[in-house]
Amino acid sequence: MVTIEGVRLTARDLTFAYRRGAPVVLDRLNLECEPGSVTVLTGPSGAGKSTLLYLLALLLPASQGSVEWDGRSVESLPDGERSRLRAAHSGFVFQDAMLDPSRTVVDNVLESALFAGIDPQTARQRADELLAEFGISHRGDHRPGEISGGQAQRVALCRALVTNPDVVFGDEPTGNLDADSARIVWDALIRHAACGATVVVATHDESLAQAADHTIVIDLPDDGNDSIHGDGVVVTNGVGVGNGAGERP
Ligand code: ADP
Repeated sequence: MVTIEGVRLTARDLTFAYRRGAPVVLDRLNLECEPGSVTVLTGPSGAGKSTLLYLLALLLPASQGSVEWDGRSVESLPDGERSRLRAAHSGFVFQDAMLDPSRTVVDNVLESALFAGIDPQTARQRADELLAEFGISHRGDHRPGEISGGQAQRVALCRALVTNPDVVFGDEPTGNLDADSARIVWDALIRHAACGATVVVATHDESLAQAADHTIVIDLPDDGNDSIHGDGVVVTNGVGVGNGAGERP
């Protein structure tokens, strides 16, 4: 079994609005995700689960507060350094796969490995292994438009895992999948965490939430309540009355 170090992800007073004056999506949220574990983010639609994943994955910069990787604040790093960290250490399974329609399945998987600086031969070998493991080798030369939704999501998983990343983020990675395909995706994420990786997944799927090590419920901001949810991890999103949508940051 491959050993992966994982990255401890910490959100400190993490606050985010999509633009100045827009409603605050995340309001001083605190949480921690540990290496070797699967954390599931649940909560109502629109509560900010995807946004939180993007922030933890360094795809979006925080408006206020910080995101730490292994205790190092990555908020203030230049864009280039953030994307280097992201490419070298993380994989992201997006909602609806988000494959590049102009590239073949193999090239979609290879892209993240090459971007992470893995040599082409090693990358190709790893891509082939993953495609075989997930039963889609025979679709390697096809384009995303020529494969099923379940196959596309498995390709997206291969793309996320091809670098053996320390962290894997999944945004409804089993949404729209049949039970068998969902099981394959979910088992792979659990196995990756068992190797030492930090896995954080937003999902509405109750059975997935039950299989996770930690469940964190993200509430809509501004409900006036401090929230203690899931297995006791303290999440505050919208502490106190009057910290309001449209006010900050
Ligand atoms: P969830 O994943 O919990 O359904 P999201 O993170 O997708 O929630 O969305 C949180 C809030 O941010 C919603 O009100 C949504 O409409 C808003 N939102 C999401 N993406 C954008 C965007 N690109 N620009 C502006 N608002 C957005």
